[in-house]
Amino acid sequence: MKKIEVNLHDCKHCDGSGTCKNGKDGCSCVACAKKNELSFWKQDNQFGLLCGSCGGIGRAEPLTERIHNRVAPLLAIYLVCILLGIVLLAAMSKNQFFSELLAFSSAIIGSVVGYYFSSKGE
Ligand SMILES: [Zn+2]
Ligand SMILES: [Zn+2]
Repeated sequence: MKKIEVNLHDCKHCDGSGTCKNGKDGCSCVACAKKNELSFWKQDNQFGLLCGSCGGIGRAEPLTERIHNRVAPLLAIYLVCILLGIVLLAAMSKNQFFSELLAFSSAIIGSVVGYYFSSKGE
């Protein structure tokens, strides 16, 4: 099978097959049955359900990659938005610390932006 992405590894839960066989006698486990939104009395002895851990694609990202790719950019955008908000508020209320705030914020925003532009090329 061709690798889709270098950073993806086979899903531990389904061994890369995308189908859960962790229940007894090769059935799908209850956790995956729940993920497949089966009603309570149908959760036992189901075969060939989609793996709940990887969503049936058989591959998962390592946790560190996931944090780097999803959480970090979100946090950075969040931080930049908050800082811009603070600067805007200070500007509108003619805050006496406006110039300090502006210098502080632009330094942080600059380093965040710099980090993303430099890490993109890796
Ligand atoms: Zn399962
Ligand atoms: Zn899986």
